[in-house]
Amino acid sequence: MQVAGALGALHRVFGYDAFRGEQQQVIEHVIAGGDALVLMPTGGGKSLCYQIPALIRPGTGVVISPLIALMQDQVDALTALGLRAGFLNSTQDSGQRRLVESAFLAGELDLLYLAPERLRADSALRLLDRGTISLFAIDEAHCVSQWGHDFRPDYLALSQLHERWPSVPRIALTATATAATRAEIAARLSLQEARHFVASFDRPNIQYRIEPKASPSRQLLELVRSEHAGDAGIVYCLSRASVEKTAELLSGSGITALPYHAGLDTRTRTLNQARFLREDGLIMVATIAFGMGIDKPDVRFVAHLDLPKSIEGYYQETGRAGRDGLPATAWLAYGLQDVVLQRRLIDGSEGDIAHRRRLASHLDAMLALCETVECRRTQLLGYFGEAAVPCGNCDTCLSPPQSWDGTIAAQKLLSAVFRLDRERRQRFGAGQVIDILLGRATAKVIEHDHASLTVFGIGAEQREADWRGVVRQLLAQGLLAVEGDYGTLALTEASSAVLAGRRQVMLRREPERAARAAKPARAAKTGSAAAAALPPAAEEVFQQLRAWRAASAKEQGVPAYVIFHDATLRQIAAESPATLAELGTVSGVGETKLTRYGQQILDTLGAVASQPPVPSGAGGG
Ligand code: ADP
Ligand code: ZN
Repeated sequence: MQVAGALGALHRVFGYDAFRGEQQQVIEHVIAGGDALVLMPTGGGKSLCYQIPALIRPGTGVVISPLIALMQDQVDALTALGLRAGFLNSTQDSGQRRLVESAFLAGELDLLYLAPERLRADSALRLLDRGTISLFAIDEAHCVSQWGHDFRPDYLALSQLHERWPSVPRIALTATATAATRAEIAARLSLQEARHFVASFDRPNIQYRIEPKASPSRQLLELVRSEHAGDAGIVYCLSRASVEKTAELLSGSGITALPYHAGLDTRTRTLNQARFLREDGLIMVATIAFGMGIDKPDVRFVAHLDLPKSIEGYYQETGRAGRDGLPATAWLAYGLQDVVLQRRLIDGSEGDIAHRRRLASHLDAMLALCETVECRRTQLLGYFGEAAVPCGNCDTCLSPPQSWDGTIAAQKLLSAVFRLDRERRQRFGAGQVIDILLGRATAKVIEHDHASLTVFGIGAEQREADWRGVVRQLLAQGLLAVEGDYGTLALTEASSAVLAGRRQVMLRREPERAARAAKPARAAKTGSAAAAALPPAAEEVFQQLRAWRAASAKEQGVPAYVIFHDATLRQIAAESPATLAELGTVSGVGETKLTRYGQQILDTLGAVASQPPVPSGAGGG
């Protein structure tokens, strides 16, 4: 009965055919009053896990979310589906708040979004006491984890939900959690008794690629121009300054790009975020301050111009690409300088030794991912405790890097560092050490008489870029360390085994041009990816449907995807339904949207069909 109810809601309200993964089990469990901790990757379909139980259980589903700036869009999206939703947060005036409160008390809301800091106010708790609550959904539950990357102190107070409303089921959801973080979430939210649902973290439609940083601006421009012209994307940079610089670079090259970082005033940030959500094909250049809860489904690429601090953060950020299941790219450029910088940040960070050690181990895992010769996805999923086979859709699968025996190269480099340190009591950064290996008589070399070292010029058989790769990989493998403000190189405990010839060092040789990896993948895709390539006539219809959608979205002041996702419009363009009944079978077309937009869609299809075919090469009109 309840399953039929849940499935009925899925068809009728959301217009979807079937549950995905563990959605059905989660939904049944919560409808029956059970607590749940749900781990699903970004785009996995977490929202339905609480939205459907909230529809079926009596009362209002209260959703705790830290994402105040997105609540309006979330409510708009639910309203477009014909649901009754509201939010309470600090952006409202008292009049707006009262309207929502009385709707809640009158039992007229299916879902109520609440910022966690609201629960500090007694008035808010008393309000909740007076209404009927169907469930509590704790979104972005990893925010309760103190050692995670998004800690929000207000989340710590959420354990009181259970004490105050013991009979109301709670469902906590997150897209980031290793086993350790998961245990921490369960403990802090008093969810030890809850059933845990852990979905696969794989996002097969995202192509993972990591390449050495040579000229990052040029590399980024090439990525955008050759593969993602006109696509929406996010570019992550470490610093505010590089965000600004990169946004200017893209804009200067005729690409619509906006900056987002914590140094911008609230108004600009809100405006830029709203434009990113509402306009098609815009690139957001941002620090990691941007992105949590951004559920724009058609982000086609996420690029990192700097090395992320941890795999958890990286995976969450890249997960913002391709939520609609269509092909998307996660691209990262990283270099030696990133390693030096990150190590320095860790050394200078606040907190005790244990904390710094944790940061360092996060970084090591990230570096190991960058330098692997194995499938990137296998490594990523392995980090989350999931076994996988080589994926065929990452750079190392598509153009396997060679691994080579770098033991002798490593010995040369380590002994240069050793001699400088032990014989001269001097430490230098990678640049100097490489100059010495290459036998270059630079000013520094002359000043310090480095030419008299026995290691001077012993590395002339390799290019400078190759040596930088060796340094990077020795750092990644913990066979070399960087220290201090100048990033000087030092030996580690593990170095001696290499120097003594007791340890072999395998290194990765970059394929000639890593970016080429994308090409075979695009052609060879199957499944949902195949849907991306429409025949030319259907592509024209798709573009017309998008134009219709853009106009309607503008008129209603909502993001375009709130009306229909690209994936839904593509299916309509491909199947060309002739009646409302046929249109209603398309995935993503529920009852409310069919009633509201069905005729307009059929009219748009009719108008395109009655136009004479446009000769290829000529524009429209
Ligand atoms: P998450 O919150 O886990 O990141 P969402 O709940 O936003 O993911 O869902 C991701 C996308 O998948 C959304 O566009 C959503 O409408 C869609 N989706 C979710 N469940 C289903 C389903 N059972 N069938 C089809 N599409 C679904
Ligand atoms: Zn792979």
